[in-house]
Amino acid sequence: HMFGAERRNSAGVDLSDPEAMLALAGEIEAAAAGRPQAGPIIGGQLRSGEAMEVKNPADTHETVGSVVLSTAADVEDAVGRAARAFADWSGMRAEARAACLDRAADLMEQRRGEIIALCIREAGKTIGDAVAELREAVDFCRYYAARARTDFAAPQALPGPTGERNQLYLHGRGVFVCISPWNFPLAIFMGQVSAALVAGNCVIAKPAEQTPLIASLAVRLLHQAGVPGDVLHLLPGDGPGVGAPLTRDPRIAGIAFTGSTETARLINRTLAAKDGPIVPLIAETGGQNAMIVDSTALPEQVVRDVLISSFQSAGQRCSALRVLFVQQDIGVKLEKMLAGAMAELKIGNPAWLQTDIGPVIDAEAKAMLETHAQRMEREGKLVYRNKLGAECAGGHFFAPAAYRIDNLNRLQREVFGPVLHVIHYAADRLDEVLAAVNGTGYGLTLGIHSRIDGKIAYIAERLRVGNAYVNRNMIGAVVGVQPFGGEGLSGTGPKAGGPRYLHRFATERTLTIDT
Ligand code: GLU
Repeated sequence: HMFGAERRNSAGVDLSDPEAMLALAGEIEAAAAGRPQAGPIIGGQLRSGEAMEVKNPADTHETVGSVVLSTAADVEDAVGRAARAFADWSGMRAEARAACLDRAADLMEQRRGEIIALCIREAGKTIGDAVAELREAVDFCRYYAARARTDFAAPQALPGPTGERNQLYLHGRGVFVCISPWNFPLAIFMGQVSAALVAGNCVIAKPAEQTPLIASLAVRLLHQAGVPGDVLHLLPGDGPGVGAPLTRDPRIAGIAFTGSTETARLINRTLAAKDGPIVPLIAETGGQNAMIVDSTALPEQVVRDVLISSFQSAGQRCSALRVLFVQQDIGVKLEKMLAGAMAELKIGNPAWLQTDIGPVIDAEAKAMLETHAQRMEREGKLVYRNKLGAECAGGHFFAPAAYRIDNLNRLQREVFGPVLHVIHYAADRLDEVLAAVNGTGYGLTLGIHSRIDGKIAYIAERLRVGNAYVNRNMIGAVVGVQPFGGEGLSGTGPKAGGPRYLHRFATERTLTIDT
């Protein structure tokens, strides 16, 4: 029961079924004509003000919609209302809150064309990634609803050797701040917000600057699903303008953050420095994710899994493969095969079904990646780099690249995009590889390709990572099935989509009654 085996994940859309795809394409096209407006949503009302245009990263001439940024007064208003709404919301039965999440999941499925179109146009997602994103968001809502029903509906009876009646209650903490990233603008946004809500908290959501439109739609659907306007507020804006004042506010009871390790540290320091209650931070951050391939691996399978792990979603997943360690006996052969397979990748408009890789999120991301590529041209050996066609001229496209490097110290920080680094290792130096990977301090995902059970176990036991994948790709953790999240520099836990996630959003109260 712990893992809720009776619950089913969303079926999504079968991309290989022509009729299903045709229907979806029609819905996407109809939705793409809209010009959504986002802005602060406080007490259920969208605030107006001076709007900024939101551009399509695949075509920067195209305006997707507009956003009004939140002011200091908006932050103040939202926190005040949320604090006042807390007693009623947390006092509701868990079942009533869970029902809101289930309704939100249904609404997302009904509005799939609009959601998928926005994921493509605002976040540069391919159709396949957008379909998967919607599915994950739906799964988060239904999974946390199911977990709330089992864990929050009634207190847990504790053994009574003291002769008393002992009960353990879970209770919402108060006003929770959810700060989410642009790379999963719907799934991670919904994951954080739905968990915080169903655990009995009021929520202030601060979406990534790049993706306010998807977040705005998600909040409207949650309100439509029955979450009261004063229980959930949306504050679009940047870190200094919205994230920082929220973090400093003495009335907040917790923060869920997904983004960079640096920002997580900044939040931690800010929380530590202020007076008032001690506030927990749930952080999911980056990785320096490795795949280790030995000479017993099946090369075709390795190439396929490396392409997916490194380049799908333009490498903009915190789970993505960054460093491929390949046993040197097969290193050169594998690089040749990899180069051949990379040459087949289609880079271009993410709205086209044949596209494998869309744009990166913005000009800043592209510039950072190009700077890194230039350094790799000097310090490493080029394995392969794609060329961009004319269709990429108008957007933030970055040509995928693979470089061989001599050791892991060449990478100081996470390179968040479609860049693969390859390191050859000698079979008798596996322990040095393991020490180097652990030495990064990150601990998010790991891939292993080997046919030797003892080797697989040896590696898996020694590497400190949150999610390890053997003889497959290393992205796309499934809600409720592969709970996701890292350790060390990669995050605090608990795992998203796992059985203990909701508990960190709650406070525990023990009630002891002498009988
Ligand atoms: N859960 C996603 C995966 O398994 C990654 C989440 C992230 O990039 O933050 O690929």
